[in-house]
This record gives sequence, C-alpha cells and structure tokens, in this order.
Amino acid sequence: MDPKILERLRKISLFLLDLDGTVYLGDEPIPGALEFIRRLKERGCRYVFLTNNSSRSLSNYLTKISGMGFPVTEENILTSGQVTGWYLAAKQPGASVYVVGTESLRRELSSYDLRMLDGVPDRADYVVAGFDTELTYNKLRVAGDLLAEGAGFIATNPDLVCPIGGARYIPDCGSICTMLENATGRQPMFIGKPHTKLIDYLRSRFPVSTATTAMIGDRLYTDIALGCNASIMSICTLTGEADRKAIERSPYKPDLVVASIGELNGYLQE
Ligand SMILES: [Mg+2]
Repeated sequence: MDPKILERLRKISLFLLDLDGTVYLGDEPIPGALEFIRRLKERGCRYVFLTNNSSRSLSNYLTKISGMGFPVTEENILTSGQVTGWYLAAKQPGASVYVVGTESLRRELSSYDLRMLDGVPDRADYVVAGFDTELTYNKLRVAGDLLAEGAGFIATNPDLVCPIGGARYIPDCGSICTMLENATGRQPMFIGKPHTKLIDYLRSRFPVSTATTAMIGDRLYTDIALGCNASIMSICTLTGEADRKAIERSPYKPDLVVASIGELNGYLQE
C-alpha cells in the first residue's frame, strides 16, 4: 500500500461503516469484520454504522448487529430515518408530514418534533418518502396530490435497489421516488448517503474532523460518494456491490480498495 495512504489510515479516529456488503452479508458477518471492530475499540477509535435503509428501526439494527457479536450501542448506529427526523424538526419544528414509508419509519419520525398525517390530508408541509416495503397505491396517490399542492419533498435515501442475498435485489426508496417524480415533475431532496447531512448530524453530537474520519462501504454512488462529498477518506470493499471494473468507470474514486474489511486488520497492526 502507498505509505501516505497507510499513514492517513492509521490516524483515522472516526470510522463510518456501511452494513450490508461491508460488515455482513445477509445474516453472516464478513470474515475479519468482528476482529476489525474490536480492534477499533481497542485503539480508542469511534465507529458508527450508517445505514440508508429506512424500512427498519434503530432497535431492529441494534438487535441484528449485536446478535452477530459486534460491540454496539445506540450511539454506534445511525439510520437515514433518524437523520431525516432530526433535519426536518430543526428546519421546521412541528411540521406536518405525510409518510410514504413503513410503520417503523413513521414511529421514528414521530419521535421528533413533527406531526404525522393520516388518511387523505388536504395539505402537508412535507411528503417524506422512504424504503417503503409496505407501499400501497393509495399512498402514492395521496403523496402525488400533496406534492402537486406544494408540499416539500424529502426522501430518506437515493438507493434504487436493496440487496436481499443471492445476487437478488428489490426496489428501494430511489425507485419509489422515480415513480413520484414521473407523476408530479417534483424531485426530492435526499437525506441519506451520499449527502453530507449525516455528517452534520454527527457533528451535532460530537466533534468531527474530516482529516481523521473515514467511510468504508461497498456501494460507489452512496458510500464512496459520501466520502468524496464530505472530503473524508473513502475505503471501498469488494465484498458487496462494487468490483474493480465499476470503480474504474465510477466518477467516485475511493482512496483505498480492499478485498474485504478483514484486510484492514493487517494495516492497523502496530
Ligand atoms: Mg452496502
């Protein structure tokens, strides 16, 4: 490895990590991932798992990740749903929100200073679209009407698809938004990776220095693009979506490419 990159890596004190395809695949930790996180803990580094998946709650993730043996508390996990709630409540406290998302996302958003709308409201301050695995045609129709009436349009994450294992994918928030965009001509503001609002959220909790922060992930247009947008070190793992050919073609170039997260264990040895 380039000695300059190695030196930079060894100075990182905050690691932001993608989940699926980076630290686990489905329900199995990627070999070396548990050791890597334990090593970060030993080194006194902070680590936060960032997920764009807004269909599941923080407690779902806490159960899943700790169940695999990763040392985690709520402080170590950040979902795009949390950042969306935080952002909207700060922008317009008490705003009325129509959610095209799961019940779990509605619960998450209602824990902030926001008012969730039911039924068929006449107007809303915002339509929030998420990865809605409980999507109905009625929700799309109501959201389309509200957007036509001028509601703000916010989406939790731009991912077009979500991996479900065995090289199979299901439509994610980005694809749902494409339907609403085509129907209304409105484009959402996306909150999750690669947008830097996640970093603003973390900054509201503790000091973040871009020079000593790194993002590790397997998807170029979200994980690695966040690294580029936030001017932090980006590390691409080849255990998920991206391969070397895709990296060559991508406008988002990682600072470091590793076969898997486990490869980093060797570099962090003193
Ligand atoms: Mg991933």
